[in-house]
Amino acid sequence: MAGVYIHIPFCKSFCTYCDFYSICDQRGIGRWLDSLFREMEYRRHFFSACGNIIPSTLYIGGGTPSLLSPSQIGDIARRAEKFFRGGRRFDEFTMELNPDDLSYEKASGWKAAGVSRVSMGVQSFDDPALKWMNRRHNGAAALKAFDTLREAGFGNISLDLIFGYLIPGETSAEGMRRWNCDLETVMALKPEHISSYQMSIEAGSILGQMKAEGKYREPEDSYCAAQYELLQKILAEGGYEQYEISNFALKTDNEVSPFRSRHNSSYWTREPYIGLGPAAHSFCGRTRSWNPDDVEGYIDADGKVSPESETLSDEEIVEEKIMLGLRTAEGVSALEAAAVGCGKLEEALSCGRLALRDGRYRIPSDKWFISDDIIVNLLAE
Ligand code: SF4
Repeated sequence: MAGVYIHIPFCKSFCTYCDFYSICDQRGIGRWLDSLFREMEYRRHFFSACGNIIPSTLYIGGGTPSLLSPSQIGDIARRAEKFFRGGRRFDEFTMELNPDDLSYEKASGWKAAGVSRVSMGVQSFDDPALKWMNRRHNGAAALKAFDTLREAGFGNISLDLIFGYLIPGETSAEGMRRWNCDLETVMALKPEHISSYQMSIEAGSILGQMKAEGKYREPEDSYCAAQYELLQKILAEGGYEQYEISNFALKTDNEVSPFRSRHNSSYWTREPYIGLGPAAHSFCGRTRSWNPDDVEGYIDADGKVSPESETLSDEEIVEEKIMLGLRTAEGVSALEAAAVGCGKLEEALSCGRLALRDGRYRIPSDKWFISDDIIVNLLAE
């Protein structure tokens, strides 16, 4: 299930925790869009070199895709269909959006442009937390945006939430209460999908700078673990299946929820994808490549990007399969897991850090919070 990813490198302002590549000056959007169309044409044979597969998903992420009008989103989709799908619609077409950009007109326009799934960056419904994150919306605006998406006819909505942080002056008990409120609010909305990530401190973010200057105190691991446990408990009780460490899909009568993100799932199974736009990454078999993170340079190159690339060794491919597979509910096959050695697998099984069922190794869901440690131990020399 290969995919096409488009990176929109523009934001209205920078959020405290974010280190994704984007710029705030939006005056170049028109020229950037022209270059994007030319990059699509220039790289239209990408999937022929990956075994002639036809990508089935389109994901417009960023940055802030909701800065674009419905007609701009429609133009991007039609060209992606033309260059990579022989003119046919994608099976899944996701667009990321921010609550402050939403209006009924825009939402209906994006829907008419073919968007089948939206992923909204809510992060929290708590106003002081949102202010500290430098988000541009408040809790009420997030609720209203969700209603607007429903009114516009979206039946597949994903919401992003962040846990594992303390706002200045907040105690752990207050942070737990805030998180509990966030989870109760999201359960009342019942979106089809929820992604929830622990706040990480990236060197290139405002938060990274705050930490370096001693202006941010990271919470204890036990606090983050308790928030993750609460997330798993409330979402399981609310009828969601956790199919990856950070991703939850609303259950239906189907054995596998149809609301899993097909695009993101293909990253975990190492399907090929092309990433278009500044800073976008692509993957084909054993080659990973990435476009430079420079909007002006991208516009000047007029679509003829010169991505940097790396070629993965056999050993790196096996490690990657294990690393990605163990983050999912499906786990990895015994054949793939064998690469880490019987001794390590036995040891992890005996202390409950791995489980073996139907010929597949999995990390039990109550150990997902420490999955990074488990995987690092398994792969250590
Ligand atoms: S979180 Fe989203 S809106 Fe905020 S700076 Fe990052 S990409 Fe932009």
